[in-house]
Parts: sequence; C-alpha cells; structure tokens
Amino acid sequence: MEANCLFCKIIRGDIPASKVFEDEVCLAFKDINPQAPIHVLLVPKLHVDSLAMTDGSHESMLGALMSRARDLAASLGVAAEGYRLVVNTNRDGGQTVFHLHVHLLAGRSFIFPPG
Ligand code: AMP
Ligand code: ZN
Repeated sequence: MEANCLFCKIIRGDIPASKVFEDEVCLAFKDINPQAPIHVLLVPKLHVDSLAMTDGSHESMLGALMSRARDLAASLGVAAEGYRLVVNTNRDGGQTVFHLHVHLLAGRSFIFPPG
C-alpha cells in the first residue's frame, strides 16, 4: 500500500468508488470518466506502479488479473459481443494513475489502432 496512491486509497476505502467485484487479489470498480457504456478498472490490491515495474514474482497476480477480467466480462454479459482490455503503461502509454490497472471497456465497438 502506498499512502498517496489514489487506487490504494480506493482499495483501503478512504475514497469511495462504485465497486463491481472484489476478491483477495484484486478490486474492480467503475471508471469515474467512462469511455464506453461499460468501463471498469481492475486493480491488484498489491501496489505496483505499472506493468513495466512487474517481474516474475508478479506472475500469478498478473494471471489472476487476466482471468478476473475475462470472468467480469462474462458476468457483465459482454463476452460474446466482445470487449477491450487496455493496460496503459508509463508516459507514452498514456498512464495517468501509477497503480497498475486493467481497463475493461465494452458496450460499443472500438477501432484499432487506438489514438
Ligand atoms: P490511466 O490513464 O490508464 O492511468 O487510467 C486512469 C483511469 O483512472 C482514468 O480512466 C480515470 O478516469 C480513472 N480514475 C481517476 N480517478 C478515479 C476515481 N476516483 N475513481 C474511478 N476512476 C478514476
Ligand atoms: Zn497503489
């Protein structure tokens, strides 16, 4: 836990969020500025700044994030239509909150490559 990290504060309950899923590994909550009809952030409870800061010791957590994203998409009813997972990483990746997170976006179609 990082004292001044926004997502650690949400995990601790110091800042409110619209939670959609929680287990021992991660928390999922609605993005405050949704870019699609469904826009959920999936964050590990363990603080790590970005994907670039992970190593082999994070492998099971990273696997759990992907599995949870898949299950969340299914439970939200968007698996068949499809969805997009995004992990913005560091400056050029457009990351603004430096606590690793996976965006789950769904409910509309997306273009590729993104801007
Ligand atoms: P990124 O640009 O990939 O670092 O994504 C950070 C995301 O966090 C953005 O989509 C923001 O809209 C979202 N965000 C920022 N503050 C909050 C908050 N208090 N609750 C929920 N989502 C937030
Ligand atoms: Zn954090």
